[in-house]
Amino acid sequence: MNAQKKTDIPCPICGSGDFQVLYADTLGDRLPDFGYDFSPSHRLSFRTVRCEHCGHGYSSPLPADIYANYIDVEDAEYIRNREQRLMTAEKVLSVIRRLKPSGKLLDVGCATGDFLDAARKNYAAQGLELSTWAANIAAATGVRIHRQRLSEMQADEQYDIVTLWGVIEHFETPRKEIAEINRLLKTGGLLCLWTGDLDSWIARLLGKRWWYVQGQHIQMFTMGSLEKLMQESGFVRKKMERYPYVMSLRSIAKSLGRYKALGALARLLLDNRLWGDVRITLKLPGEMFGIFEKVAPAVKV
Ligand SMILES: [Zn+2]
Repeated sequence: MNAQKKTDIPCPICGSGDFQVLYADTLGDRLPDFGYDFSPSHRLSFRTVRCEHCGHGYSSPLPADIYANYIDVEDAEYIRNREQRLMTAEKVLSVIRRLKPSGKLLDVGCATGDFLDAARKNYAAQGLELSTWAANIAAATGVRIHRQRLSEMQADEQYDIVTLWGVIEHFETPRKEIAEINRLLKTGGLLCLWTGDLDSWIARLLGKRWWYVQGQHIQMFTMGSLEKLMQESGFVRKKMERYPYVMSLRSIAKSLGRYKALGALARLLLDNRLWGDVRITLKLPGEMFGIFEKVAPAVKV
């Protein structure tokens, strides 16, 4: 796969061609890492711009067909954090269950299927995953995994809930993908998602060192650009709060590894035999957990 880039992309949310450059391209001819090993190359990214009209952040220009890169993704590091993802899933599901206690659920970008494992206790749960490696692991638990793109999903209006956990920032054309999700949802169905907020103080403070700045993240939403996209795609907001993320002290130390001095301090204080496995629930600024209800079909895009 070569990383040949196209020309400037108009804003995927409002269509404007006016933008300011937020962060320069650090990838050059390379493609980004599509895993979570937090190696130094993981931080390299495409040029990130911010729309002057709606404030949405996005990568531009981009090489053609980003999704083709996900087929071969394998990520051993991802497996290690399974326990904390299951605990996070339980917290998120307790919120969703209050709005819709049962029904048919599709987790888009389900990776190795941890959320599905938790969700299947209450829902008829299915996943969609492009990585062959991850889809095989998820399917081994007996849950149905669709190994195809959203645009290739056949049946309309069959799901009560569609979930996107850390996925919408990977979408190449978010307006099209959200329209496909609208098509798959029943009227009154819920779209539940988690993504970063480019307008949050932490994103502003950290700038290009904000943890969402990674080559594989090509959309950077704000509450405003997310709301605009959802409203114009036939959804109304039911809930917007901070995403509850369960992490062990050891994995917090690992995640902070991208910040040199802070990372060293965190390793010293957090990653040890006595309390490295202690888990805490983080509700960090800039981590949006939104639930939207489908009220109308999406306009064809
Ligand atoms: Zn815009």
